[in-house]
Amino acid sequence: MSEIKIFKYYAGSNWHEPSSGKYFESEDPSIGKVWAKLPNCNLDDINIAVKSAKSAYYDGPWGKMHPAERGRILHRIGDVISKNAEKIGNIETKDNGKLPKNITPSLTSWQTESFYYYAGMCDKFEGRLIPSEVPNMHNYLKWEPFGVVALILPWNSPIGTLIWKLAPALASGNTVVIKPSERASCSTLELMSILEEADLPEGLINVVTGFGPTTGATLIEHDDVRMISFTGGTKGGSAASLSASKKVKPIIMELGGKSPQIIFSDADINLSVNGVVSGIFPVAGHSCISGSRILVHKNIKDEFTNKLLEVVKKAKVGSPNDPSTQIGPIANKEQYEFILSKIEDAEKRGLKLLIDGRKENKSEGYYIGPTIFDNVPNEDDLAQNEIFGPVASIQTWEDENEVIKIANDTIYGLAAGIWTKDTNKAIRLADKIEAGTVYINNYFNASTQSPVGGFKQSGYGRENGWEGMQSYMQTKSTWLATNPSQSDPF
Ligand code: NAD
Repeated sequence: MSEIKIFKYYAGSNWHEPSSGKYFESEDPSIGKVWAKLPNCNLDDINIAVKSAKSAYYDGPWGKMHPAERGRILHRIGDVISKNAEKIGNIETKDNGKLPKNITPSLTSWQTESFYYYAGMCDKFEGRLIPSEVPNMHNYLKWEPFGVVALILPWNSPIGTLIWKLAPALASGNTVVIKPSERASCSTLELMSILEEADLPEGLINVVTGFGPTTGATLIEHDDVRMISFTGGTKGGSAASLSASKKVKPIIMELGGKSPQIIFSDADINLSVNGVVSGIFPVAGHSCISGSRILVHKNIKDEFTNKLLEVVKKAKVGSPNDPSTQIGPIANKEQYEFILSKIEDAEKRGLKLLIDGRKENKSEGYYIGPTIFDNVPNEDDLAQNEIFGPVASIQTWEDENEVIKIANDTIYGLAAGIWTKDTNKAIRLADKIEAGTVYINNYFNASTQSPVGGFKQSGYGRENGWEGMQSYMQTKSTWLATNPSQSDPF
């Protein structure tokens, strides 16, 4: 039996055992066996981590550092992550089953680009002079950091989601305490030991591990945490925002989705089939923007569906350690059981399965292949609620107004795909779709320069781009009298 790795949490640039002595387990989902134990951090541990971040901000060099110097440190972080991409990728694969090809290459390219992009922004986030109507006043606006910021992460892409938060949070001048998901904490902790090579100021980045309603909520409510950036499900986000509201703290929320893929009758069928499949199945549906609602025009439904099934049937589901695998395991047992229950419930409601991913079940590990239900009514649970697994539903429609209504008729608004050769129509539709990101004849693209975020219950606030930096800063308006005079108060 292989040895179980015991992690410590990271605060003040040191490793700590949990003060309660309690740990929780993490399984390798490719075999369904425990491989690591993580500290179950409580208030005492959170106090240590937040105190370290606070002291790095107020007493350490970080709070006094020139923005350009911060930028140079961000460059170092990007370089170290890029250099260790494979190591980080391997540990994430072991922890949540994600295929190495879906992690490692991005850590040497567009994801680490975040550090270079925001490094450049550090000394360019200029304030402005306001032409106020008050006479003899010089009124200027500055952007300032919040101080200690808490970053709360999901399990599907711990390092990816962390980078999108960490780069702008640090570039803005904050210090951070990270709380990764209890279902995938190992890569974040491993990253801390890798970042020791970047020689960061003590206490700049801290990590506590534990469960959402306990460790997460306690961290959010800590008096010295001034802002929160949360990525997770809509239910978890709603609970986290209640915690934040107790102390009136700003929070940005990147939450779940149930994104529509709208296929017009004039779409390029091969392109749209490839786009729809790529938009959900290669990552086993573990993406917030999974296009799980396939809304195909009635006239091409049969042709589209046949091609779709042809493509998904070829996909090889298996261990992430086998380089020929195209779809890896479900990331953890709870999610596996949740997805299975959703498939069983849909069957009980009489919905028709076109392909049943349960046939990919293996003697060990958590495997479900592409699963597609046909003719799903829009009000059905399958069309309305996020499954976060390789399960898609097909619905048909006949006219443009009808499909806009169907597409917008969920609580979510994260992303949407539009497939048509008619650009005018595509733009007309994109304007009417209630989602933070719309893809026309492509899907799944993202870049550091382009802000992402949700409409409706998919969240608020933005990550990436100019807006991503603003999320981690607040403005200060200063009034300087150029000809000081004050009339008698009474
Ligand atoms: P989750 O909401 O269960 O947990 C996310 C994080 O929040 C975890 O670290 C968890 O411990 C913490 N948490 C949960 N309840 C909390 C509470 N009451 N107080 C404080 N913290 C709490 O989500 P998950 O299952 O880990 O992740 C999957 C979800 O994340 C999916 O819904 C997916 O769509 C979403 N997601 C969104 C994006 C995006 O950018 N919009 C990206 C990735 C994942």
